[in-house]
Amino acid sequence: MRTALVHYHEIGLKGRNRGQFERRLESNLRWALRGVPGVEVARVASRVAVHIPRDTDPSSVLDTIAGTPGVAYVAYGREVERTPEAIAEAALAEAHGAVARLGGSAGTFAIDARRSATDHDETSMEMNRRVGEIVRMQTGLTVDLDSPDITVWIAVVQSAAYVWTQRCEGIGGLPVGTSGGVVALLSSGIDSPVAAWRIMRRGAFVVGVHFSGRPQTTGRSEHYAAEIARVLARGGGMERLYTVPFGEVQRRIALDAPDDLRVLLYRRFMVRVAERIAEAERAKALVTGESLGQVASQTLDNIGAIDAVATLPVLRPLIGSDKQEIVAEARAIGTYDLSIACDDDCCTLFMPRRPETHARAKELEEAEAGLDVDGLVAEALYGATSESFPTAGRRGRGRG
Ligand code: ATP
Ligand code: MG
Repeated sequence: MRTALVHYHEIGLKGRNRGQFERRLESNLRWALRGVPGVEVARVASRVAVHIPRDTDPSSVLDTIAGTPGVAYVAYGREVERTPEAIAEAALAEAHGAVARLGGSAGTFAIDARRSATDHDETSMEMNRRVGEIVRMQTGLTVDLDSPDITVWIAVVQSAAYVWTQRCEGIGGLPVGTSGGVVALLSSGIDSPVAAWRIMRRGAFVVGVHFSGRPQTTGRSEHYAAEIARVLARGGGMERLYTVPFGEVQRRIALDAPDDLRVLLYRRFMVRVAERIAEAERAKALVTGESLGQVASQTLDNIGAIDAVATLPVLRPLIGSDKQEIVAEARAIGTYDLSIACDDDCCTLFMPRRPETHARAKELEEAEAGLDVDGLVAEALYGATSESFPTAGRRGRGRG
């Protein structure tokens, strides 16, 4: 049977977290592969095995598995009975397959056998030697334990043996659903989708909130934010996207507050609205895409002045990342092209000529004294609409 054996990192998976982690990974993989007829997902001895039907192209199945949060790497090969004959036969078939794939350029090999079944007679060393000898005789390859062209991995577990020569790296992280829920402020720019994605990869369900300049602008950014949310939703961790027309709030801020503080005041109102949504969604933190010093509003002073109105923790997964790293990640996730296509950003609405780079919370409080803060927040929320996405299971309470 052709099988993908899914491995995860076990660091930090002690006690009761472990079972929850494994069940989540199993059900998330089942969800991710729901469109592929005939695949079977089962848990085996601290791994997850995915059986792939003969007539299915394995490469897209492997890509889907590797892109699922919590997967360290995927071993693609076969599952056989754990008898010495079946294991040797599978190892030989896998070695022949690898030779064919490498187009004759392979000259050396190694066997890497492990057993976790306590009642398996043959030790790992004995398996390495016995199977290695058969492969050497039958293929003409020579043994090289240091840097072999082909490695045949053998894993003997309680119920079966797995044999493979192909492995692909997964994206790591934790299964979505093991870390609770967050609200991510999702502009249509490059950074915030990457920030939301990183938190999702660490196991959180994400609810997005997008602020558009409507009715002062066309609201084109709403279209792009929704497209970006759909890309993020492929991983099964994006629950909903709220869209908040924000142009009117911005207009009132522009009328009544000092112009150099506008952007920071917009941001403080965004945080207030996002917190109200977080409360309704029972989310435990906010997420933004700021990276230290990237633009005028992202100095330490300004970040502090924005956080002063937050009661929930504000997570900034990109704070120490450079733009090139963020761009590369946005490309890999598939949100980059949508972000650069969007030329509409509500933050450029009523943009001051010299924005404040070192605001103090007190200064902003004074500017807000003349504004009906609660009224503006309520008004923004009143205009909000939301779109829900299919998710991999329900949120749960988070770990620990
Ligand atoms: P991005 O690339 O995410 O747009 P940016 O580099 O443009 O970020 P800022 O404009 O300072 O940076 O925004 C900082 C963060 O504030 C964004 O990453 C995002 O989390 C949030 N934010 C800004 N504008 C919006 C918006 N219109 N809707 C939702 N969140 C926003
Ligand atoms: Mg932006």
